[in-house]
Amino acid sequence: MIPNIQSKLPNVGTTIFTVMSVLANEHKAINLGQGFPDYNMSEELIALVNKAMQAGHNQYVHMNGLPALRDRLAEKMDDLYAANINPDAEITITPGGTYAIYTALTTLLQPGDEVIVFEPAYDSYIPGIEINGAIPVLIPLVYPDYKIDWELVKQKITNKTKLIMLNTPHNPTGAVLGADDIVHLQNIVKGTGIFILSDEVYEHLIFDGKKHESMLRYPDLYERSFVCFSFGKVYHCTGWKIGYCVAPPALMNEFRKVHQFNCFTTNSPVQFALAEFLKEKDRYLQLGAFLQQKRDYLKMLMRQTKFKPLPSFGSYFQLYSYSDITDEAEKDFAIRLTKDFGVATIPTSAFYKNETDNKVLRFCFSKNEKTLEAAAERLIKL
Ligand code: GLN
Repeated sequence: MIPNIQSKLPNVGTTIFTVMSVLANEHKAINLGQGFPDYNMSEELIALVNKAMQAGHNQYVHMNGLPALRDRLAEKMDDLYAANINPDAEITITPGGTYAIYTALTTLLQPGDEVIVFEPAYDSYIPGIEINGAIPVLIPLVYPDYKIDWELVKQKITNKTKLIMLNTPHNPTGAVLGADDIVHLQNIVKGTGIFILSDEVYEHLIFDGKKHESMLRYPDLYERSFVCFSFGKVYHCTGWKIGYCVAPPALMNEFRKVHQFNCFTTNSPVQFALAEFLKEKDRYLQLGAFLQQKRDYLKMLMRQTKFKPLPSFGSYFQLYSYSDITDEAEKDFAIRLTKDFGVATIPTSAFYKNETDNKVLRFCFSKNEKTLEAAAERLIKL
C-alpha cells in the first residue's frame, strides 16, 4: 500500500507561470506570460563560461560564492547605493532570486509569526511563508497605481509581526517605491523587532528617470534586511538560475546555516564568468533604457487594440486593462486569449490569495520587436 502523503502546501497547485507557458506551447501561442527574454544574451558572457569550464573551474566554489564575484558585487553596491558591504560576511551567491527569498524566509520565520505581504504578490512568497508555519497578513496595493497604504500597514502590525516583504520594481505591476514610501517604512520599523525582506531582482530595470529605492541605501533599514537579487534578470539568462542575497553579518550567518544544507553552493563556471563580466558597468547601467524602449514599443502597438495600459515604471511587465473588451474573469480570459487568439499572458488574479479580479492581465515586454508586433496583430482582432 502506498502511504498517504500529508501535504505541507494543501492549497497550492502548479505555479501560474508553468501553467501558462505549457498552454502557450500547446497552442503555439506567442508567450508574453512567463517573464523571460526571447532575444539573445551576450555572446561574450557565454564565451566566458566556456572559458571557465575549459580552464577547469568545474568543482565546488566556496559555499558562500566565489570570492572574486562577491568582491565585484560589493564594489557595485558601493558605487550605486553608497553601501558599505563586506563581501565575506554579507553576500551569498544562490541558485536564483526565488531561492534567496525562500532561504531568507526559512532562516527567519518561526511558527505563528506574522508576515506583512502586499498583494498582488509574486507567487512564491505566500507558500514560502506558510511552509514555515508563519501567517501571511495580506494588504492590498491600491488599484490602479498599486501604491502602499501605509496607514493600513500600521493598523495591521501586531506584536507577532516578524517581517515586512517588499518588492521594487514590482512584479506584476511595475510599480516602484518612492522616497515617501521609505520615510513611512523607516517610521514604522524604528525601535521594533521587525525585519524586512526586499525582493530587488529588477533593480536595473527601472524607467522614466526613477531612482531605485534599494534597502541598501538606508543603513537603518539595511540593518534589519535580507535583500535578494538575480543575475538572470540582469544578463538576459533567466535559465541560468543564479542570484544572491545581501544581509548584515548576523542575519547572513543564519541564512548560510540554511543554505549550506540545501544546495551547499552554486554553479561554479558561471560565477567565474560573472566575476569577469561585472567589471563592465555599462552592461547593467544601460538596461533601464533598453527595457524602457520595449515597454514603450508594446504600448505604442497596443494603441490599436482595446487594451488600456496601467503605468509601469520598472520590471519586465506592464498590466493592461481589458474591461472595454469583456467582463470575463482574468483567468478565463487569459486562457481564451491563449487558445483562441494565440497570445499568452498572466492573469493578475494569480498574484492574490484574497479573491481580486480587476480585469487586468500582465504582459511581458522583454521580447524582440517582431514578437511584440506579432502579438499586437493578433490582439487587434479582439
Ligand atoms: N519571475 C518570472 C515571472 O514573474 C517567472 C519565474 C518563474 O517562472 N517561476 O514571470
